[in-house]
Amino acid sequence: MPQRASAFACNALISLYYVDFVRHFRSTFTMFDRVHPIPAFTDNYIWALIDTDAAEACVVDPGDAAPVLEFLVSEKLSLRCILITHHHPDHTGGLVELSNRFSAPVYGPRNPRIVGITHPLQEGDELELFGASFSVLEVPGHTLDHIAYYSTTPKQPVLYCGDTLFAAGCGRLFEGTPQQMLVSLNKLSSLPPETLVYCTHEYTLANLRFALAAEPANMALQERAEKEQQKRDQGIPTLPSNIGLELATNPFLRCENQELRERVAGQSQLSLDNATSTFAALRQWKDNF
Ligand SMILES: [Zn+2]
Repeated sequence: MPQRASAFACNALISLYYVDFVRHFRSTFTMFDRVHPIPAFTDNYIWALIDTDAAEACVVDPGDAAPVLEFLVSEKLSLRCILITHHHPDHTGGLVELSNRFSAPVYGPRNPRIVGITHPLQEGDELELFGASFSVLEVPGHTLDHIAYYSTTPKQPVLYCGDTLFAAGCGRLFEGTPQQMLVSLNKLSSLPPETLVYCTHEYTLANLRFALAAEPANMALQERAEKEQQKRDQGIPTLPSNIGLELATNPFLRCENQELRERVAGQSQLSLDNATSTFAALRQWKDNF
């Protein structure tokens, strides 16, 4: 009897170690290996980060639960967590339903107006997701609570930046000042040029039409406009973009450029002697374009 008991204990111990080893292996080596845009409303993308082996996904800014649920069912995935960038309803509308359904934690800004955030975040916070480490960046301007998520752990650095930096544009200033938004955009544009930029709206062609009006002689911009038009003609998203491409073609990141500044000054009838005044006049021009 004692021998059988000790054999049983030994087997149980081995099983425990095995489970622990598998857990450790999974937490160390699982990684999201696919990012998929779930279209919502007229021009939103809800980005799904997918860990294929674990059959799990994390979604960013689920403004609507229905398309997310449809996607998860069709791909046989469960929802591990939700990331939120700011309080606007087209980014938060589906979070309560999704988080209740999957008991999924919700990471987002430290803003009590957003119902359902379980893990409030601020500048400098780090979160582990599918074995990748994400840094939280505060980027006020579009709204005051806006945050972005940046990770260097996947093969290529990635940025989830909501409505702050768009492909060839930036978000409207609903709550922040031009100065705040410019500081936020500078923070994002100083990330490595190869960083993939996952913003939340398919605004690229409209943004490029404005960018061409602001910088008609920019060759990189002309080339980009042609390429992005081809993508849209084929029904392909223009996103993700990358920081290098934005630095070359996004007028809101180019307020130090003399040619652009002169053009904005001519349009606004203002004398623009620094990047902040140029940015403010450029943003106003775009709002009425
Ligand atoms: Zn917004």
